[in-house]
Amino acid sequence: MALLTLDDATVRFGGPSRNAHAALDRVGLEVAEHEIVCVLGPSGSGKSTLLRVVAGLQGLDGGRVFLDGRDQAGVPAHRRGVGLMFQDHQLFPQRDVGANVAFGLRMHGAARSEQQGSVRELLELVGLPGAERRAVASLSGGEQQRVALARALAPRPRLLMLDEPLGQLDRSLRERLVVELRELFGELGTTVLAVTHDQGEAFALADRVVVMRDGRIAQSGTPLDVWRYPADEFVARFLGFDNVVDATVAGEAADTPWGKVPVPAGSPQGRAKILVRPAGVRLVPPADAQLTCTVTTRTFRGTHVAVHLQATEAPRLEAACALRDAPEPGEEVGVAFDAAEIVVLDGASPA
Ligand code: ADP
Repeated sequence: MALLTLDDATVRFGGPSRNAHAALDRVGLEVAEHEIVCVLGPSGSGKSTLLRVVAGLQGLDGGRVFLDGRDQAGVPAHRRGVGLMFQDHQLFPQRDVGANVAFGLRMHGAARSEQQGSVRELLELVGLPGAERRAVASLSGGEQQRVALARALAPRPRLLMLDEPLGQLDRSLRERLVVELRELFGELGTTVLAVTHDQGEAFALADRVVVMRDGRIAQSGTPLDVWRYPADEFVARFLGFDNVVDATVAGEAADTPWGKVPVPAGSPQGRAKILVRPAGVRLVPPADAQLTCTVTTRTFRGTHVAVHLQATEAPRLEAACALRDAPEPGEEVGVAFDAAEIVVLDGASPA
């Protein structure tokens, strides 16, 4: 049985009228014990509302929330056994680190001696051993985040919910912390429901990613599946893929504004959107090419160079090139397409 189940969960701000915009629109979601699920979506897609509904901080206008199979209707937030950590981690600035972490324990009536031992363990767990007496104000952003995490973990919640947990930290620290968090949750066996607008964070942290759009679930799957087979144009663009065009698919080829493009065997047929991943746009000598383009810009992305190409009377195309192969802006290049990096969208997912 799932630890958390949302069944047609609906929230309408502005009253129950039929026209009111639903912040959550009949959302169905299950989170298994020990699973790490990240809800991903643009601002306003309903992520925070989803967390608040599970935490009991927001009432439902329709549907139900179950924890351990028990309907949570009428169960107040403090009796749900869920831990919450928000972006603005809301530490008490006038208290030291130990007192902040102990707050999470006192709320649950632990004895003082027991509290001290637990605080020590929790601080070790989050990588801040011996920090009990430090002032919160003297900590860096990343350290404060760890204290907030220790406080949220203190009562050993059966479900830990994180709202943009690393939102305010700089990128390199985020990338490091997200790996540590995943390891930590794995060791503790913590069940986690996190929301973020940052796809990198979601993909690094999650066992399963749930992409939201306008209060609904657009796609749910493992990070690899969502990355490889975005369900539709919205998800593909949200993941940062811009090579999405209308096409007509027949057999293992598609007619597109860029000409004939190969598609994987078994792709859905007929009119569809197709996604060409930048890795599937190969630069070849113009003589061998099916399409000739001019390089407009190139951007270093660390592991590769993103090259933007303009063809005559066709949408721009992004190619991913190895650092040493990237052509200069203004150069004319030939393009060939690699079927393995092409996805026919609109719900398509090869068997
Ligand atoms: P996200 O967390 O993905 O940014 P939210 O859950 O905060 O999205 O918001 C979803 C929708 O509900 C948005 O359209 C937002 O404007 C609206 N909304 C959120 N909270 C309230 C509220 N307290 N009153 C009215 N509308 C709200």
